[in-house]
Amino acid sequence: MLNIVLFGPPGAGKGTQSAKIIESHSLIHIATGDLFRKHMGENTELGQLAKSYMDAGNLVPDEVVIGMVEDKIRENLDANGFIFDGFPRTVNQAEALDQMLTKHGMSISGMVALVVPEDELKTRIKERAKTSGRVDDQDDEKINNRIQVYNRETSPVADYYKDQQKFTAIDGVGSIDDIFHAINSTITSLEV
Ligand code: ADP
Repeated sequence: MLNIVLFGPPGAGKGTQSAKIIESHSLIHIATGDLFRKHMGENTELGQLAKSYMDAGNLVPDEVVIGMVEDKIRENLDANGFIFDGFPRTVNQAEALDQMLTKHGMSISGMVALVVPEDELKTRIKERAKTSGRVDDQDDEKINNRIQVYNRETSPVADYYKDQQKFTAIDGVGSIDDIFHAINSTITSLEV
């Protein structure tokens, strides 16, 4: 079983790389941002709740995210493994994830962190804004807030996995294929 946390700031390329990883390793993709956007599109209660936080670039409360992820894990207990994308985003979420996985006899194999300088992140998000339709991609204030939230609340999650010797950093600048190959060689070494 292979359970990967794909980590990195907004705009680091997690979604792009996840798509390639799930294809080559037959993993279930749990992308919390995508799940929330799906709920928003369907105007569910969860979607309405998440919208106000997401549109401003703030984090959705932990208990809401954790419950949603737990449901997804429970629906896919026969999977080869999972790739977590955009989750955990707080240390509290990381602890909850460990507990959920332990309950089902599983654990995180490793975290792969995409490293991208802040200027490049902003350039990428603004480029994405032209086609993403995402409210949170559209203006500088929201983009800056997301990066600040990442630095303050999410970056400590890397230390959580470093402490468990499960952390690998990958240069997230370069061609999509070169980055994918770097991720892939890390992931392959984690496969048992
Ligand atoms: P990006 O990485 O580009 O910011 P995502 O699609 O991963 O985009 O997330 C978009 C938004 O969804 C976040 O800014 C946040 O509001 C919400 N969100 C996604 N995942 C989480 C999470 N694990 N905890 C709290 N909020 C989340």
